[in-house]
Amino acid sequence: MGTPCEIVVTGVAGRMGRMLAKTVLESDRARLVGAVERKDHGWIGEDLGELLGGGAVGVAVTDDPLEPFARARAILDFTSPAATVAFSRIAAQARAVHVIGTTGLSSDDLEAIGAAAAHAVIVRAGNMSFGVNLLARLTRMAATVLDEDFDIEVIEAHHGAKADAPSGTALMLGQAAAEGRRVSLEDVADRGRDGITGARRRGDIGFSSIRGGDIVGEHDVLFAGQGERIVLRHVASDRGLFARGALKAALWGLDRKPGEYDMMDVLGLD
Ligand code: NAD
Repeated sequence: MGTPCEIVVTGVAGRMGRMLAKTVLESDRARLVGAVERKDHGWIGEDLGELLGGGAVGVAVTDDPLEPFARARAILDFTSPAATVAFSRIAAQARAVHVIGTTGLSSDDLEAIGAAAAHAVIVRAGNMSFGVNLLARLTRMAATVLDEDFDIEVIEAHHGAKADAPSGTALMLGQAAAEGRRVSLEDVADRGRDGITGARRRGDIGFSSIRGGDIVGEHDVLFAGQGERIVLRHVASDRGLFARGALKAALWGLDRKPGEYDMMDVLGLD
């Protein structure tokens, strides 16, 4: 085993940020060297270990990413699209692996992230769990075999505080289905139905979002035919799943050439 990988967690006070910090602190393959939050957040200047309810760990939460990024070999980033685009530039300057879990990124955001990937390794995935990435592969396979007599619907459920819909994972599954059918998701995606929508268009891929309580993340891909239905399902019951995936991605990225990768690459599912 080599020396532990120096890691910075951004958005450290968030649902995922806390889980990422705990995962890094508990790992013998990684060392937490920085914790970043947005300006004016109540955690700035405090010791992260104490904030998380344990003993001091000697890492004060900061709102300035420059200094900790310069000392890091990898950044674990589950924040917001605007923050992630800004972090991708700084991580590229520092030549640190940037693991991006943030969802809801626009095409402009993706372009900016792509530019940063010319200089450093970026691993970006709407879902960092092995199970969901396997589900995406199974979805593509099923969509290849089942023709348009089977209507494809992606149904997702998340906690009530989630900012974006459909989830990044739902879009990733829709993309996998579109690839299986050899069509562009943009042309067939049917999102946010309401009112007199008319009959379902043959070949469309539909999306529905459920929001409530503390649901960590559930995804169904439904293939609805005449007289039969096939449902592929993933249920996440513990956020630690995504954090462990993110850390795995960071360690995997250390030996790669600059470029943009996803969890299929990390997990060897491609
Ligand atoms: P959250 O709102 O609980 O946490 C986000 C944190 O980022 C907050 O603490 C916020 O203050 C911080 N933040 C925002 N702007 C910042 C900035 N400029 N600098 C530093 N910190 C900043 O949200 P969450 O549930 O933890 O989810 C975060 C993101 O991760 C979302 O986009 C979510 O969809 C995504 N997510 C991805 C996966 C995956 O496996 N890829 C899994 C779960 C969540």
